[in-house]
Amino acid sequence: MNVPFVSFETINKQIKTEIMETFESFFDSNFYVLGDRTSTFEKEYAAFNQVNHCIGVSNGLDALHLSLKSLGIGSGDEVIVPSNTFIASVLAISFVGATPVFVEPRYDTFNIDVSRIEEAISPRTKAIMPVHLYGQCCEMTTIMEIAQKYNLWVIEDNAQAQGASFNNRLTGSFGDINATSFYPAKNLGALGDAGAITTNNLELSNKVKMLRNYGSAIKYYNEVPGFNNRIDEVQAAFLSVKLRFLNQWNEERRHIAGVYHDSLVGIEGLELPSVVSGATSVYHLYVVKTDRRDSLQRYLEANGVMTTIHYPIPPHLQKAYAHLDIRKGSLPIAEDLAEKVLSLPLFIGMTDKQINYVVEKIREFYQNI
Ligand SMILES: *Cc1c(COP(=O)(O)O)cnc(C)c1O
Repeated sequence: MNVPFVSFETINKQIKTEIMETFESFFDSNFYVLGDRTSTFEKEYAAFNQVNHCIGVSNGLDALHLSLKSLGIGSGDEVIVPSNTFIASVLAISFVGATPVFVEPRYDTFNIDVSRIEEAISPRTKAIMPVHLYGQCCEMTTIMEIAQKYNLWVIEDNAQAQGASFNNRLTGSFGDINATSFYPAKNLGALGDAGAITTNNLELSNKVKMLRNYGSAIKYYNEVPGFNNRIDEVQAAFLSVKLRFLNQWNEERRHIAGVYHDSLVGIEGLELPSVVSGATSVYHLYVVKTDRRDSLQRYLEANGVMTTIHYPIPPHLQKAYAHLDIRKGSLPIAEDLAEKVLSLPLFIGMTDKQINYVVEKIREFYQNI
């Protein structure tokens, strides 16, 4: 049996007719950038996310970048970010000229360790960027309390957790301004690149709308030096179709994660992900940890099961950040995780047979050692 890491087959079957009709009407509309389809999707996503404003943009990295820019964060400022995040969170901080200050995650949940945030705050700190990694919401109540105490902005990186929550409040609705990504493999994915910003702050929403469109609110009148970071009209139209399935798809992800948990719990040497009290996860990824990660991955691959490593090198050890001069050993939890994490196959339409096969092969691996 072959189990891919991700497959769009089932999702695409589910939406094909509607997507084709949507494309045809988009094509005939003769309007391809910042039209009704964009504003409709923005309203729908704001309603889904329980925020006042959603601004569609080109991708998740640009959403993070514009969020920081709209807050006026730049050169000389520091932004707190987890040490085990995807590189884009850090890139956005360096794009505006600010310095990323890494805070270690909790080993069990993979999310930023809230008990280590305060010691990382300096007079230059302007913001905290929690990242809801692998689909689980960070401990947002504590993060918002710290931000309030030190008068810091909060920018959620919600690329992996659309629909997750903490104490029943959704990711992307806590921070001053928050970013998400609709990269195809995210829980809500476009058919190409796209992203969005969510906020309850009208002023920030207006700023971002200008920044994504050359810095202009009125055509050919430029108030600030902006960018071209608009969402594609056709992607917005596709996202409106897919958004209607998001809750159902997240449920399915939870189901698969539940089966993995129940069938893998208790294997010695294999650590399963845990969810902190008050938080929910929408399982963008199901990530296990093991000292024998590379041989487990090879064993599964030899048996037709594809897995991925998110992520093999933490940002501070990437060549791109050599100039930060943070030596190996300085962020031991992120470094340890990079050597132990393995993401198991998890996608909409994954059959019980496929899930059981993955479980069987993992059990076999641990029995044979
Ligand atoms: C995917 C992702 C991004 C970037 O989104 P793109 O749309 O690919 O630019 C940022 N942060 C995290 C945590 C992500 O997973």
